[in-house]
Amino acid sequence: MAPIAAVRGTHDILPAQAHAWEWLHRTHERVAGGFGYRPVETPVLEHTELFERGVGAGTDVVDKEMYTFTDAGGRSLTLRPEGTAGVVRAVMAAHLLDATRPLRLRYAGPMFRRERPQKGRHRQFHQLGIECLGDPAPHLDVEVIEVGVRFLEAVGLHGVSIQVNSLGDRDDRARFRAALVAHYTPLRDRLCEDCRRRLAVNPLRLLDCKRDADLAEGAPRLADLLGAASERHFAEVLAGLEDAGIASTRNHRLVRGLDYYCHTTFELWHTSLRGAQNALAGGGRYDGLAEELGFPGTPGVGYAIGMERLLSLLAEEGAGPASLPAAAAVVCSLAPAQGLAAAACARGLRAAGVATVLDAADRKLGAKLRAAASLGARWAVLVGEVEVATGAVALKDLATQEQETVPAGRLAARLRGGVEDAAG
Ligand code: AMP
Repeated sequence: MAPIAAVRGTHDILPAQAHAWEWLHRTHERVAGGFGYRPVETPVLEHTELFERGVGAGTDVVDKEMYTFTDAGGRSLTLRPEGTAGVVRAVMAAHLLDATRPLRLRYAGPMFRRERPQKGRHRQFHQLGIECLGDPAPHLDVEVIEVGVRFLEAVGLHGVSIQVNSLGDRDDRARFRAALVAHYTPLRDRLCEDCRRRLAVNPLRLLDCKRDADLAEGAPRLADLLGAASERHFAEVLAGLEDAGIASTRNHRLVRGLDYYCHTTFELWHTSLRGAQNALAGGGRYDGLAEELGFPGTPGVGYAIGMERLLSLLAEEGAGPASLPAAAAVVCSLAPAQGLAAAACARGLRAAGVATVLDAADRKLGAKLRAAASLGARWAVLVGEVEVATGAVALKDLATQEQETVPAGRLAARLRGGVEDAAG
């Protein structure tokens, strides 16, 4: 029988990466938490309609990439492809904005899209995100971008470029859509198949196409069609970013095709990410989303950062957390007869706050010391017949190979002192 493999496009987070993984979560908690963003968790499984309305028919994600199935009750359910729609649903359903406005939330978790797997593109991937709900003010667009930038600084990533654009409001985009259709219609025969469809259903997405990039060269720019209010909003965002010392690049081709996106849209790029995978994070304002989901109109702005892309960039740059030992000490019984004594010793150490692994296996001491070293432990505590009889243990420093005898009652204090010395 063939061994069962992981589903294509999914991956395991094994212990060697898990430390960096947890560190990313903690750092995001710390940085976003420092701006007042509180945690929220929403289900992975949602009604398909949430994404059809909340991400939008006409997008690749909804049209081609969702994991959708009908459950035994005949309902169409979908594994979430993104986090914002679920967070907005949760906040509106629980009336959280009645008490706090703006409401600042952060989330982390797996997302699912049936894309073609390749480097930086998975079918199950993970995002760290924030949403700031209930206030349309441009300084909150700035804040959201700043949280993302400070987070990437905190994890030690250099070479991030901040691409920003304004999508204006509904009226601006209606003018822009008409101008795009006028520009592209005479070029229809030269467009790729996807773009011909986009021209009919979602002309803004024409600017996203990598294949038809040359045709976008002379295309109209939304920037030239923005109304006064939209101009003002964007100018305030740019001024706010500058004030925060965040350099940004205006990217006229950064568009989102759906009506509930408005004003600021942004992506964080990294110089070493290429092609379709160049974005490390994406975000923007979505003041029309809540209404699209059937709730009262409620402004919002947020971002989502891809954890896999971030981790692989950090690994390439040699950044990331120092690796952590599995435990500070390994307590080794020298023979099966000392198994219980070794377990009691390990228990005592843990109770005193020293992370301790018990090795009570029936194998030679040499093998136990090698295993202890491979866990990264600083000490091996040896419990043999003599030790049990005398109430002391042999303590071996695995870095220096020096060995000393320590009374059992003083062991924890001795190791804790060593841990504190090492922490320095
Ligand atoms: P989006 O929700 O499409 O704006 O994506 C936000 C971020 O999530 C991207 O910039 C990527 O870092 C990450 N991301 C999106 N799709 C994938 C995927 N299929 N595999 C890995 N990361 C992804």
